[in-house]
Amino acid sequence: MSASRGLLIVLSGPSGVGKGTVRAAVFANNQFQYVYSVSATTRAQRPGEVDGKDYYFVSREEFETMIQNEDLLEYAEYVGNYYGTPIQKIEENLAAGHDVFLEIEVQGAMKVKERMPEGIFIFLAPPNLEELESRITGRGTDAAHVIQERMATAKEEIELMQHYDYVVVNDQVQHAVDKINAIIQSEHLKVERVVDQIRHDMETYYEKERI
Ligand code: 5GP
Repeated sequence: MSASRGLLIVLSGPSGVGKGTVRAAVFANNQFQYVYSVSATTRAQRPGEVDGKDYYFVSREEFETMIQNEDLLEYAEYVGNYYGTPIQKIEENLAAGHDVFLEIEVQGAMKVKERMPEGIFIFLAPPNLEELESRITGRGTDAAHVIQERMATAKEEIELMQHYDYVVVNDQVQHAVDKINAIIQSEHLKVERVVDQIRHDMETYYEKERI
């Protein structure tokens, strides 16, 4: 029997909530062996980021070609830059039975939900808005107008929470990681995901034993 299809896991939430930090912690001890979906972006590479690992850093022209060729599962224009999810590797990995993990902003997550509603949508929420603001300001890599813009969109982004399957409050990174892993493990145990395999095993057994 072929391996069952992997799960598509989408981690999203407002800007500054700590999606990148939580995702890095999930992958630092990736005991469940999720495959990370590396996004393409037109934004400048930050110090320490690795091309092909953190993002595929591409020009606007290259990104627009990807859009035209329908190479992207979704894309969004966010604070003046394109961000998008290449589709091919996702399809290959899901078909091979691997769980694929996306960490994207909320507009993109909603587009993924339209195209792949079977995905597991996890909303990472801030413990409170003061904390969110201080995280946005504290990152120190963005200009003041970018911070203001991000805080204004945070309100609209939090309202999209209702479209998700799960909410994880990012009070402590390790707590958030543990909750995310627990969600994914539970999803694997849903009856509809295991019933075919168990039925198949039962049929084989009863046929062999001629019961
Ligand atoms: P940053 O520039 O800080 O790395 O990311 C900015 C935002 O873009 C983050 O909220 C991140 O989750 C989101 N992002 C990263 N990759 C993608 C993607 O492929 N699609 C979408 N829609 N958002 C993405």
